[in-house]
Amino acid sequence: MSVPKIVILGAGFGGLMTAKGLQKELGYNEADITLVNQNSYHYITTKLHEPAAGTSHHDHARLSISSVINTNRIKFIQDRVSAIKPEAKEVHLENGEPLSYDYLVVALGGAPETFGIKGLLENAFFIRNINSVRMIREHMEYMFSRYQEEKREDLITIVVGGAGFTGIEYVGELVDRMPELCREYDIPLEKVRIINVEAAPTVLPGFDKELVDYAVKYLESKGVEFLISTPIEECTEDGVILKGGKEIKAATIVWTGGVRGNKVVEESGIETMRGRVKVDEYLRAPGYDNVFIIGDSSLVFNEQERPYPPTAQMATQQGQHLAKNIASLIRGGELKPFKYEPKGTIASLGNKEAIGILGDKKMTGWSAAFMKKIVDLRWLFLLGGISLVLRKGKL
Ligand code: FAD
Repeated sequence: MSVPKIVILGAGFGGLMTAKGLQKELGYNEADITLVNQNSYHYITTKLHEPAAGTSHHDHARLSISSVINTNRIKFIQDRVSAIKPEAKEVHLENGEPLSYDYLVVALGGAPETFGIKGLLENAFFIRNINSVRMIREHMEYMFSRYQEEKREDLITIVVGGAGFTGIEYVGELVDRMPELCREYDIPLEKVRIINVEAAPTVLPGFDKELVDYAVKYLESKGVEFLISTPIEECTEDGVILKGGKEIKAATIVWTGGVRGNKVVEESGIETMRGRVKVDEYLRAPGYDNVFIIGDSSLVFNEQERPYPPTAQMATQQGQHLAKNIASLIRGGELKPFKYEPKGTIASLGNKEAIGILGDKKMTGWSAAFMKKIVDLRWLFLLGGISLVLRKGKL
């Protein structure tokens, strides 16, 4: 007897939660489940700013997919999705045969939003995946290593474009990393410039003002320079050109200014807004009852009709909910509408500092930093229980 085919694209926060949920919800003979991901490992995107700054090794931000799913229940294919064909109910892969499906879960994450800034794609680095953060760290260290010979200030100047969540967390890690890096390369710490450039009139737009002030004060006390209300107009091989024409010469430019949808989703014929799909209350793509889109590839609106920011928290909740809904569909049951329940937000400012809101409680300093680590451990727990926490977790 043939069973429904479920194909999950992407083993990030959303995809893995769906896979884990289906593994738990469905019996052995109820569905044929396939998970496709371009790497053999899952990278913990929320930790990528650490290896990008060099405060931890990139292996701390990844784990093998086969160690967290039951490969007897879920077939794992390591390949790159090249196209989604919703009309034909097919997914095309770069190397393998096309996959057909009855239910498709698209959890391919996002891509950097460059807002059309000239030269950004060519000259800036992006905190996106394991390889991109390896390159940032290696590049920055190489630039520092050249300073003794060339004595060019731009070699030890780092521009971070965007002072949203990722930008601020990365700047916080850089602040932690600099003393050691400067010792290693015999560079006086005060010579290093970390410049965070933001087009909006504030750092961490939309975040609580008191907490934003705390973060700015802390980071400024460590030497970070903030340029707010300052759009970057162009990124060149030599640095960035700001609105009004001022140039900052910098050998390392890291862009963290925004997320848009995945190109594969954008090219699938499904209606998108900046590459992301406005899903219905059951997380379905418009026009396709059997295609579900979650995580950074999706757009979910709040009651005021404003989109929720793309977060791991959102992707995780969507994945958990969707697994239950697909199991119900397969058994002839009803779909339940998805309702996002924000649990709070914490932004790290390095290892020992953070700001955050949990419920209606504001937190700063070491207690916020501790809570951030608990949130990280929770993800490991959801993926692999206490044994994974003990194996991979660090406080
Ligand atoms: P992802 O987790 O990005 O997973 C997508 C997966 O799809 C990846 O494994 C990718 O390799 C794979 N993939 C992509 N394209 C293809 C293809 N064509 N073929 C095959 N596989 C493909 N959110 C929070 O809630 N809290 C935080 O503290 C936080 N901190 C962050 C810090 C940083 C530095 C960054 C970059 C992000 C942070 N976020 C945070 C946001 C959060 O990481 C994302 O919202 C979340 O990862 C989205 O999950 P996802 O499943 O949609 O995509």
